[in-house]
Amino acid sequence: MPESAEEVYQRIVATAGDGGRLPMPPSGDWDIFPWEVVDGALAPKLVQAPGEEPGRYGEDPAKPCPECTDADPERIVWEDEHWVLTHPGQPTGLPLVLLLHTREHEDFGQLDDELASQFGRISNRLVRIIEHLPNIGRVHVSRWGDGGAHFHVWFFARTKGLMPVLGSPAAEWNDIIPPGAEDVWRADLHTVAAKLSNWGGDARA
Ligand SMILES: [Zn+2]
Repeated sequence: MPESAEEVYQRIVATAGDGGRLPMPPSGDWDIFPWEVVDGALAPKLVQAPGEEPGRYGEDPAKPCPECTDADPERIVWEDEHWVLTHPGQPTGLPLVLLLHTREHEDFGQLDDELASQFGRISNRLVRIIEHLPNIGRVHVSRWGDGGAHFHVWFFARTKGLMPVLGSPAAEWNDIIPPGAEDVWRADLHTVAAKLSNWGGDARA
């Protein structure tokens, strides 16, 4: 079962030291990271003049779709005829982070009504299953589509009572908090996959 906030906190203290600070995640170096230090204070970055956006994977001819060409079967948690649920390949800072993809190459907004209905049902079940696990405070469901053109929706489960890991910054904390034990994480993936398969599809984790 997922770790308690106290267990995660003790790992943070063991990593950073009592009162210590965890290192910056890779997103701190991203061009799209919105903050920078100016004269010793945090400030929003300057907004640049409008320009060309970078091409997305699966849309730009120079950037093939990784879901269609390079999907890793080891990452599949659950799948059925139309959907594939994957994990990041290893534990991360949040107790569970999952990605739901369509099997076919299409984007959010292009699903027919039947697929859109299936997405709603699967997402609702997934959130309910994960939020019923011990020590989970909430599951955030996020669709960002600026990197890849293949339908993918994130499910970020956060630890209950671990402050200040709330709201949309929980996605950033996922790359900051030191990951927990792999066997705990794999057991939780197995639980989620088994419960989701009660409505159909195949558990793979
Ligand atoms: Zn694709």
